[in-house]
Amino acid sequence: MAIKAERTKFSLDVLGRYTCNTWQEAKDSIDQTSRPDARQFDVVIVGGGTFGAALAQHIFSIDTSHSHRILVLEAGPFLVPEHTQNLPMLGLDAASPTSIAALRAAGQDGQPRKEVWGLAWHSPVDFQGLAYCVGGRSLYWGGWSPQLLAEEMPIGGVPGTAWPKPVVDDLTSGGYFAQSNAQIGSDDSNYYIFGSLQSELRKILAAGLSGGKVSDAITPSLLPDHPGVAVMNAPTAAQLDQMLGFDAPSGLPVAELKDLMKLEAPLAVQVRSRSGLFPLNKFSSTPLLIKAARVAENETPQDDVKKRLMVVDNCHVTALGFDGSRVHRVDTNFGPLPLPANGVVILAAATIESTRLALNSFHGSPNYGLIGQNLVAHLRSNLNVRIPIANIPGLAGNLEQAVLFVKGRHKFADGSFGHYHLQIKCGWPDQVGKHKTGAIYNEDAQTLTQQAALPAGQWNQFEITAKAQHYTVHLNGAQVAVFDNATATRGLPTPAFIGLQSHPASIPKVPNTGRVAFRRIQIKQL
Ligand SMILES: Cc1cc2nc3c(=O)[nH]c(=O)nc-3n(C[C@H](O)[C@H](O)[C@H](O)COP(=O)(O)OP(=O)(O)OC[C@H]3O[C@@H](n4cnc5c(N)ncnc54)[C@H](O)[C@@H]3O)c2cc1C
Repeated sequence: MAIKAERTKFSLDVLGRYTCNTWQEAKDSIDQTSRPDARQFDVVIVGGGTFGAALAQHIFSIDTSHSHRILVLEAGPFLVPEHTQNLPMLGLDAASPTSIAALRAAGQDGQPRKEVWGLAWHSPVDFQGLAYCVGGRSLYWGGWSPQLLAEEMPIGGVPGTAWPKPVVDDLTSGGYFAQSNAQIGSDDSNYYIFGSLQSELRKILAAGLSGGKVSDAITPSLLPDHPGVAVMNAPTAAQLDQMLGFDAPSGLPVAELKDLMKLEAPLAVQVRSRSGLFPLNKFSSTPLLIKAARVAENETPQDDVKKRLMVVDNCHVTALGFDGSRVHRVDTNFGPLPLPANGVVILAAATIESTRLALNSFHGSPNYGLIGQNLVAHLRSNLNVRIPIANIPGLAGNLEQAVLFVKGRHKFADGSFGHYHLQIKCGWPDQVGKHKTGAIYNEDAQTLTQQAALPAGQWNQFEITAKAQHYTVHLNGAQVAVFDNATATRGLPTPAFIGLQSHPASIPKVPNTGRVAFRRIQIKQL
C-alpha cells in the first residue's frame, strides 16, 4: 500500500511525501516480475541540488513524447520548498566554514551542521561544505549571476586554459545563457530593489567609472547589454527609465540609460512571472523539481510504473558500475540500481563529489587523467565600508537597500588578463544576534543570551573568558554568549590577536556619530 504523508510531533510531511519517492518505490517501479510493462530509468541524475533539480525538470519538460523515465537520487532529505530567504525568518542559514579536522577535534564530526550541512572532503582551507538536501545550495545562495564575457571563455589561446568550443557555442549562440537568465530571473532589473539610494549610488558609481576612479574597471559602454535589455527590440528611454526604477522621466539618452542598466546587480530574483504562474522570488531549483514531480504524479496517479520522474531522497550514490565503455549500474546506500543499455547517468553532486565519483568509477576510461583538472576556486574577499548617508545627496530619507555591480579586467605583468567583479551591497545592519554587541562575530554555533548594551555615552564592561576552545562573554555582569570553537586556525598561539569591534549606530543623516572607544583592557592567565 502506498505510504501516506507521515506525521511528526510537529508537522504532517506533505511536502516530502508529495515530492519524493522511497528507494523501494523506485525499485518496484522497474520490477517486470510484478508488472510486465515496467521500465528501467533512462536518465539517472546523481544529486538533486541546484543543477540536478533544474536539469531534471528541464529534461522532463522537453520530453514531449513522454518516452523517458527520469530518476533523481539525492543524498539528503527534503528540507524546505523554497529559497530560505523566501521563508519567514526561519534562521536556517548556511553553516559557517570549518574543516573535518577541526570538527573531529571538537567531537562534532559526522553530525549535520545547521540541519543539513556536511563536509565530504578534507581541505587545508576552512569551507562551508555542501547542503545535503533537495535543492542543495540553491536554497541558500546569494543569487549573483553575472554572465561570462566572451573573453572570459577563450576558445583558443594559452594551452590548458581554452574552453571547448561546443560548450561556448551552446552557452552563447545555442541560447543556454539566455534561457537560464530567463529561468532564474536575472534578465530582469531589480524591481524589488529600487528607490533613491539605488538611483543615487548608481549615479555616483557611473560618474566614478567614467572618471577612471575604479582601476581596471571595464567601461560600461564596452560591455554587452544587460540581459534584460538585450532581449528587447530597440528599447525606448521611457522603458529603460522604468527598468531603472526612476519615478519621473530621467531625460537621459538611451545609450546612457543602457550603460546604467549594466550597473544593476545581476541577481536571480524573479518578482513577476507569466500570467498564471506564481513568482519565484529568490531563485532556487526546488520549486521546479516539486512541480515536475507533481506533474509526473498527476499524469499517472498512483501508478509508479508509469511515473516519468521520481525523486528518491536520503539516497547516497557511492559508485557507478562501469564496464569500460558504459555505466550499467548505480551503487547507492540502499543498494544497486541497474541501467538499461541506452541509460544515461548525469553527475550533479557538486564539483568535488562529482569528480570523486568519476575518479572512483571510471578507471581505465579514455582521458581518465583529465578528470578533475582545471577546476577553479571562487576567490572572493569582503570589504565593509561605512559611508555617512549625509555624504549621499538626493536620498528620500527612508531606510533603503541598494545592490550594484562592476565588471573589471586586470592586465598582469606577462601580458595576460584576469577578470574580476565587484558586488556592491548597501543596507543597514541586519539585527542578527551573531552581529550584535557581545557576540562572537558572525559565528553561527554560539549560544546567545543577549541583552542591550548601555545607551551611548556610558561605558560598557566586558569580561571574555577563553578556556582551551571554550569562550564565554559577559556584558555588564550578565552572560551573553558562549562559544565552542571548531575552527582549527582560530586562537593559535602565534600570532595571538584579540579582535574587539563595535558598529555603533549613527544618527540618521548626522555624520560621525557612530564612534566607539575601548579603555582599561586587561588580560590575565586563568
Ligand atoms: C551562502 C551561499 C551563497 C552563494 N552565493 C552565490 C552567488 O551569489 N552566485 C553564485 O553563482 N553562486 C553562489 N553560491 C554558490 C552556488 O550556490 C553553488 O555553486 C551552486 O549552488 C552549486 O550547485 P551544484 O548543483 O553544483 O551543487 P549543490 O547545489 O550543492 O548540489 C549538489 C547536490 O548533490 C548532493 N550529493 C552530493 N553527493 C552526493 C552523492 N554521492 N549522492 C547523491 N547526492 C549527492 C547534495 O546533497 C546536493 O543536494 C553560493 C553558495 C552559498 C552556500
